[in-house]
Amino acid sequence: MAIPVQDYSQLRDKECPICLTVMTRAVQLPCSHAICQSCLHDLRQFGCVCPLCRSHLPCHPHELFKDACRLGCRADRSKDKKLSDSLWAEAIRLLESAAGQGHEGSMFILILCYTEGKGTPINHQRAVVMWEAAAEKGNPEAQYGLGLCYQVGNGVEKNNERAADLWTQASIQGHAEAQVCLSECYQKGMGRPIDTERTVQLLKSASEQGHTGAMIALGDCYVKAAGVESNDELAFEFYQDAAKLNNPHAIRMLGWCYARGQGTECDPPHAAKCYKQALELGHVDATWRAGICYMRGHGVEENHLCGTKLIKLAAKLGHPDAITHMNIVRTEFDVAPGAEFDIADYIEFYDRVKPKVNEYSKIVDKLLLKLPTHALPANASPKPSLSVDFCVQVGLCTDMIESSLSL
Ligand SMILES: [Zn+2]
Ligand SMILES: [Zn+2]
Repeated sequence: MAIPVQDYSQLRDKECPICLTVMTRAVQLPCSHAICQSCLHDLRQFGCVCPLCRSHLPCHPHELFKDACRLGCRADRSKDKKLSDSLWAEAIRLLESAAGQGHEGSMFILILCYTEGKGTPINHQRAVVMWEAAAEKGNPEAQYGLGLCYQVGNGVEKNNERAADLWTQASIQGHAEAQVCLSECYQKGMGRPIDTERTVQLLKSASEQGHTGAMIALGDCYVKAAGVESNDELAFEFYQDAAKLNNPHAIRMLGWCYARGQGTECDPPHAAKCYKQALELGHVDATWRAGICYMRGHGVEENHLCGTKLIKLAAKLGHPDAITHMNIVRTEFDVAPGAEFDIADYIEFYDRVKPKVNEYSKIVDKLLLKLPTHALPANASPKPSLSVDFCVQVGLCTDMIESSLSL
């Protein structure tokens, strides 16, 4: 069994005692001798002992990995938590040994274990060691994931430059998520100087790969004339492309274009339809906008009960404009903050003081006209994405995929 190294970089830049070259990829053997991965590979052809001290070599990483998979599957099927934990702990020991020999699949399963606390306490630092090891092997998924760790400071000190470097490496390999993250670096000057043209270039490359977040961000660039000449029709097309892929942000943006007649004909019923469609997908801003449509009878039949319900819901979900709306109502209505009030009363109030509300409406108009903002898809807590395609790529067995996905 190879001893799991604390930090792979410790072994780097030392000389391999067998081939006498500087080790770029080292393995620490159970006897604690460190040799390079390719020498270990060659040694296996001749026998199974360390040439320096005659101790046993670690098992082959593929064998270790397969055994770990079997243990993991057994652990996940077991109803006995104690047994399951001990099986996972043993699986981790095997995976650590395989990862120490440069086995990528093991590194990714270990990242999941350390991030989710499977068979081990949660350990973000150890997860980062695995991210680093896989990223160093040139895996774009790992370069992207490690970049997220550096961006949010998860298990490692925050470092925007390093995040941008890693995303650059992954971008060159065509990783769409990394291209979007890197575009944000150039857009906001995080770890990179502000460069709107480079932002657009990266977004185009990601959107060509079907990345909906990139399509929306590109649409925004054309609306704001950031890095490109203003072009509302083109922006509308980008939103439309992303909306076809059922992206709720994009559907909401289409609603915004139809409501304003921006890049397309002004079409209030179509706008309301888009807002309703996006709100069904759980989009908070669309919920607020649909609420306003109902309050005003824009594109739908005026319905204050429905409108108020939606605005209340958006406020509850933390939408700032909806909260402002409800607070104004509370003030007019003399309701203590936090106290409930009857929607029916509110509707009557709304009709009674319509002129007053009209003044507030002007504020709402302004709010509705602003280009809505939406977060880019970077997650706050990076996790390796274990898509089936990706697992096949790194050679994970099907059972292990299933057990990993149900982590
Ligand atoms: Zn060597
Ligand atoms: Zn030895």
